[in-house]
Amino acid sequence: MTKPPMLTAQQALDHLLSHAKPVNEVETLAMQASLGRVLAENVNSLVDVPPLDNTSMDGYAVRTADTQTTGSTLRVAQRIPAGSMGTQLEPGTAARIFTGAPVPPGADAVVMQEDCAIPDGSTDQVQVNIAPTSGQWIRRRGEDLTAGKTALTAGTFLRPQELGVAASAGLTHLNVKRKVRVAAFFTGDELSLPGEPLKPGGIYNSNRDTLLACIKSLGCDATDFGIVPDSLEATKETLRKASKDHDLIITSGGVSVGEEDHIKPAVTAEGRLDLWQIAIKPGKPLAFGAVRKSDNSSNNAETWFIGLPGNPVSSFVTFLLFVRPFILKLQGRDAGAPQSYPMRADFDWLKGDRRNEFLRVKINAQGGLDLFPNQSSGVLTSASWGDGLVDCPPGQVFKAGEMVKYIPFNALLS
Ligand code: AMP
Ligand code: MG
Repeated sequence: MTKPPMLTAQQALDHLLSHAKPVNEVETLAMQASLGRVLAENVNSLVDVPPLDNTSMDGYAVRTADTQTTGSTLRVAQRIPAGSMGTQLEPGTAARIFTGAPVPPGADAVVMQEDCAIPDGSTDQVQVNIAPTSGQWIRRRGEDLTAGKTALTAGTFLRPQELGVAASAGLTHLNVKRKVRVAAFFTGDELSLPGEPLKPGGIYNSNRDTLLACIKSLGCDATDFGIVPDSLEATKETLRKASKDHDLIITSGGVSVGEEDHIKPAVTAEGRLDLWQIAIKPGKPLAFGAVRKSDNSSNNAETWFIGLPGNPVSSFVTFLLFVRPFILKLQGRDAGAPQSYPMRADFDWLKGDRRNEFLRVKINAQGGLDLFPNQSSGVLTSASWGDGLVDCPPGQVFKAGEMVKYIPFNALLS
C-alpha cells in the first residue's frame, strides 16, 4: 500500500482554507440573540457617541480664563445633573455638574469636586483650589463613535462588548450570518456511550463530548449522528444522512489505512477524499474531502468532510488546529493563526521529534510553563490538566529557562 505524502501543518491548513467558502445566508436577530454570531455587514453608528461634550467627573464646569489663579472664587449659577441640559456659562460663574451631564456652552474645563471648596457661609459660591487646564475631565462629542461611521466591521465575531458597542450606536437588531451546521459521528466497534455497560475490550466514547462541545464553543449548530460501527455500509449510510442540511461532517477514528478503517473507502464512494499524513504529533492522519448531498436542502451540492484520528488527544488537537480555522472561514471570520505568546519553559525537552509536536502544558505560579508528564495521544487528562499547547517545530529541543511558543486553549475554543 502506498503511503500518502507527509504534509507540514501549514501546508495542510493552507490546503483546507483554500477550499472553505463563507456561508452566504444572513439573518436579522435582536441584539441578545446575536451573541456568538458573525456580523454579515458593517454596522454604522446612528449617533455620535457620546452625543455631546460631557463631564467624566462630579464637580464644577468652569472657564479656564476665570480660574488662572489658585483659589479663584466663582458664583455657582446653574446645576446640571446627567440627563439635563445647561445654559450658556457666563464669565465669572461655574456650573455644578455631575458625571455624564453635558458641559454647558462657554465652559472649557471641569474641576472635580475634591479640588474645590465652598467658602464659609456661602450658599452659591465655589472656590477652585487647583487651576484646571482647558479640556480637563471633558469627554468629547463623538470621541467613541461618529454618526454614519463604521462602528463594527463585517466578519466580526460578536462578544458581549460588541453587542454593547452596537447598542451604543443605537441599533436594536444585527444582520448576522446563519450558524454553520456541523454533523459529527464517531467510528469504532469498541465504543459505548457513558451510561451503557462497556463491551469486552470496549471504551467510552469520549470524542463525542469533546468534539460536540468544540463545535458548539465556536458558535455552530452540532448534530450528533452517534457511534457508527466499523463497517463500510454503516459508514456510507451515515455519511449520506449527515450530508443533508449540514455544511461540514466531522468524524473521529477509522482514518488510518487498516482493514477496520472504513472512512477512506466510504467517503470516496460517497464523494471525494484526500487522506493526509500530517507531520504533527499528536494527530498524524487527517482526511479531507466532500460528500455529495443526497437531497436539495441547499444550493451547495456537497458537504465538506474532515475525518479526525480516533485517539482522544489527537482528535482534540487536530480539531483545534485544522477544523477550527476551517469553520471560522465558513463563518466568515478571520481564520488567521491563533494567538500565541512567547513563554518560558520550566522543563527540558531534549528528544526533538521529526514531527511538529504540540505539548500539553500549564502556566505555573512563577509565570513559566510546566509539562504534563504523560504526552501520550490517548491520555486526555493531559488536555484537561493543561491550559494550552507548546508548538514545538520539528527537531526543536530546549532546556528549562528557554522561551517557547505557547498557544492557550481558550484562544482556540472561540
Ligand atoms: P482509530 O483512529 O479508529 O484507529 O482509533 C485510535 C484509538 O483511539 C483507538 O485506541 C480507539 O479505541 C480510540 N478511539 C477511537 N474513537 C474513540 C472515541 N470516540 N472515544 C475514545 N477513544 C476513541
Ligand atoms: Mg477505529
